[in-house]
Amino acid sequence: MSALDEQQFGFVQVAIPTPLHQLFDYRWRGNQPVIAGTRVKVPFGRRSVVGIVVQGMAESAYPANKLRAITEVLDEEALLPKDVMSVLLWASRYYHHPIGDVLCSALPVLLRQGKPATLEHREIFNLVADSDALIPSAKKAALQHSVYTVLAEAGNQAIDASTFAAMSPRWRSAVKPLIERGLVKAGTSMVLPRNDAVESGPELMPAQESAVSAITEKLGQFAPFLLHGVTGSGKTEVYLRAIEPVLARQQQVLILVPEIALTPQLMRRFQRRITGCLVSLHSAMNNTERMQNWLLAAKGHADVVIGTRSAVLVPMPRLGLVVIDEEHDGSLKQQDGFRYHARDLAMVRARDRACPVVLGTATPSFETLNNVASERYTELALTMRAGVATPPKMALLDIRRRPLIEGMSDRLFDEIKKHLDAGNQALVFINRRGFAPTLLCNDCGACADCRRCDAHMTVHARRARLRCHHCGSERPVPQTCESCGSESLDRIGYGTERIAAALAEAFPDIEIARIDRDSTRRKGALQAQLDAATSGSAKLLVGTQMLAKGHHFPGVTLVCILDADRGLFGTDFRALEQMGQLIIQVAGRAGREEKQGSVLIQTRNPDNPMMQTLVSEGYAEFAKIALDERRLALLPPYAFVALVRAEAPNADAPMHFLRGVSDRLLNPPVAGVSVLGPVPAPMERLGGRYRAQLLLQAERRSLLNEALSRLTINLDTLKDAQRNRWSIDVDPVDLF
Ligand code: ADP
Ligand code: ZN
Ligand code: ZN
Repeated sequence: MSALDEQQFGFVQVAIPTPLHQLFDYRWRGNQPVIAGTRVKVPFGRRSVVGIVVQGMAESAYPANKLRAITEVLDEEALLPKDVMSVLLWASRYYHHPIGDVLCSALPVLLRQGKPATLEHREIFNLVADSDALIPSAKKAALQHSVYTVLAEAGNQAIDASTFAAMSPRWRSAVKPLIERGLVKAGTSMVLPRNDAVESGPELMPAQESAVSAITEKLGQFAPFLLHGVTGSGKTEVYLRAIEPVLARQQQVLILVPEIALTPQLMRRFQRRITGCLVSLHSAMNNTERMQNWLLAAKGHADVVIGTRSAVLVPMPRLGLVVIDEEHDGSLKQQDGFRYHARDLAMVRARDRACPVVLGTATPSFETLNNVASERYTELALTMRAGVATPPKMALLDIRRRPLIEGMSDRLFDEIKKHLDAGNQALVFINRRGFAPTLLCNDCGACADCRRCDAHMTVHARRARLRCHHCGSERPVPQTCESCGSESLDRIGYGTERIAAALAEAFPDIEIARIDRDSTRRKGALQAQLDAATSGSAKLLVGTQMLAKGHHFPGVTLVCILDADRGLFGTDFRALEQMGQLIIQVAGRAGREEKQGSVLIQTRNPDNPMMQTLVSEGYAEFAKIALDERRLALLPPYAFVALVRAEAPNADAPMHFLRGVSDRLLNPPVAGVSVLGPVPAPMERLGGRYRAQLLLQAERRSLLNEALSRLTINLDTLKDAQRNRWSIDVDPVDLF
C-alpha cells in the first residue's frame, strides 16, 4: 500500500453492482485510512449493499449533507489489489460495461455477499509443558492419557483435531483438562492444500527445449508467445517445464483452460508433475470451495492456479507467468453480463505485472495469428508430434450421389470396419446431440417448433421428448402432427443419439461410448465414458465437440467427421474459422501413439476451395486465405466491431429502441465508424423474447470507443430503454 492509499479522506467513491455507469459518493467514517479494493457496506436506496472502495476523496461534487455515510468497513486490507483494480477499471472502459458490475463480478459470490474473507482453519494442539506430575493416569483417565501420549510422541509437532476425533467422540472432554493444567495449547492452522510431484517429465525434444528457454528468458518481462503445435506435439509438456523456473523464483503461475470438468486428465497430469500449492477454480465447485481457493490465490499461498475464464481476474500477488491453453476456444469469452475476453484481460494483466503470457493451441484464433504477423506476439512452433506419432492423413469423402445409411456413406462404414478389424478404435464426430434436429409432417410440411423460439425442436428418441436446444423447453414427442393431426411424421437429420444407434446396428458386437451433454449429465457418467474410450473397451466413440477437447485416446486410428459442411455456409463471420478449428481439433484425436491415423470428412462440397486448402495444406494456409477475406470485408481482426443487442417480450420494442440508438450514433456521425442496422437477430425469438441488433464497425479502436462512449451516456433515458433489455458487446465472438 502506498502512502496515498492511507491518506485520510472525508469521502469515498464506491463501486456498487448496479446497471449504472457510475461510482457513488459516500461520507467516510472517522479517521480510518481509506484503502482502495476493500469492501464496505453502504445504504443504497432502501437496501444495504456490499460495494468496493475505489478511491478516497478530499471533497465530493455533492453537498456533504446530501451524502450518506458508509455503514461498515468489511476488510482490513484490499481484497482487490491495485493491479487487479486497474485491469478492471480498464475493462469497464474498454467493454463499456457498468463499473460496479465489473468490479463486483471479480469477487466470488460469498465475498460479494459480504462474508468474511478468511481462509479455512483447522484446530490443532501442541504439548507445551512436560512434567511427570501432570501426566494423566492411564488407569483413572484412560482417554486423557492416550491423548497425552499422542501429543508427547509428536514432540513439538502439532496434532490435528481430526486425529483425536478419530480416537473417541468424547475427545474434547479429555483435551480440556490438559489445557486447563497448562500442559497443552490449542491453536488453529491454515488448511494449505499441498501437492507433491510423483513424476518427472521426459527429455524434451529440441523444439520444446527452445520454446521453454524462450519463455524462461523473458521471466520478469511482459512477453506474449503463441505456442503453436498440433494436438500431441507436446505443448502441455512445455507448460509444465516453463512453470518450474517460475516456482523456483517464488512466483505464481496462472493457467487458463477452457473447461476443467471436461478434461480431468489434464488436471491429473498437473497434479502428478507439480510440487507446491495447486488449486483449481471452475464452475463445478460450490461457493465455499470457490472462495477458499480464490483466497488461497489472492493471499499468495497458491503457487499454481488452474482455472476457467473467470480465473483471469483472481488476484495473485506473486504472478510470474500466465498460460492460456486452447487460446482459440470460444469459452474464453463471457457471453452475458460483463462480456470480457479472458485472453485480452490476461494480456493487460501480464503487461501490468511484467510477466510472459503463453497462448497454446493447434489452431490459433485469427486475432492471434494477426498479432504474430504484426510481431506483437512471438511464435514458438512445435512441428513434430511428441514420441513417435505421425500426423494423421486427412481426406474428403464426397457423399454426393452415394448411398447413405443414416447419414453415413457406405465407404465410411467400410473404413470403420477396416479399422475395427485391425483391433483399433474409430471416432465418429457430429456436432449435434439428440436423435434428429427436426420432426417433419409429411402431409402438411409443418415441423415441430419451439413455442418460445424461432427454432425446431430436437427429437430425443430414448426419452421420447422434444427438446429446444436454445431455451431448454421440452414436451413429449407427439404421435400425430401438432398442426394437422396426420400420423405420417418423419425424423429429419442426424444427432449423436441416432448415429450411435445406427452404428450399434451395423456393428452389433462392438461397445460404443457416446459422449455429449446428454449422455454425460449424470454425475460420474462422463468419467465412465472417457474411461471406456481410453481403456479401449469401447471400440467406437461417438460424440460432439466435447470429444474434441484435450482428450487422449491412444487406440483411435480413424476419425470420421459427419457434418463439416455446416461451417461452410454459416451466417456468422467466424463460422469458417470455427469450422477449420473444429476439424483440426477433432482430427487431432487420430493416431496419437505409434499408429498412423486417418481422418475422413464427409462433404457435399468436395470442390470448395477452403475445405480443400484445409485438408491438403493445413490450418495455417487455410487461415491465411480466410484472413484475406476478413481484410477485404473489413471484419476483425482488421476492423473493430461492437454489437448493441436489445430484447423485449414485445416484437417491435427492440427495433424501435435500436433505431433511437442508431440516430444518436449518426447525429452527428463519428467519422470512420459505420453503423449497420438495426436488424432482427438471426434467430429473432428466443425464450419468448424478441431480439434485434445494431452493428458498429470502425477502422480504429479509438473511434469505436468514442462512438460507444457517446452511447453509454444516459442510454437508459433513451425512448423505449425501459421496455428493453439491452447490452453492448465489444469484440463479439459471434453476431447472434
Ligand atoms: P499437447 O499438449 O500438444 O497435446 P502433450 O504435451 O500432451 O501435447 O504431449 C502429447 C504426448 O506426448 C503426451 O503423452 C506426452 O506425455 C508425450 N510427450 C510430450 N513431450 C514428450 C517428449 N519430449 N518425449 C516423449 N514424450 C513426450
Ligand atoms: Zn401435419
Ligand atoms: Zn426454445
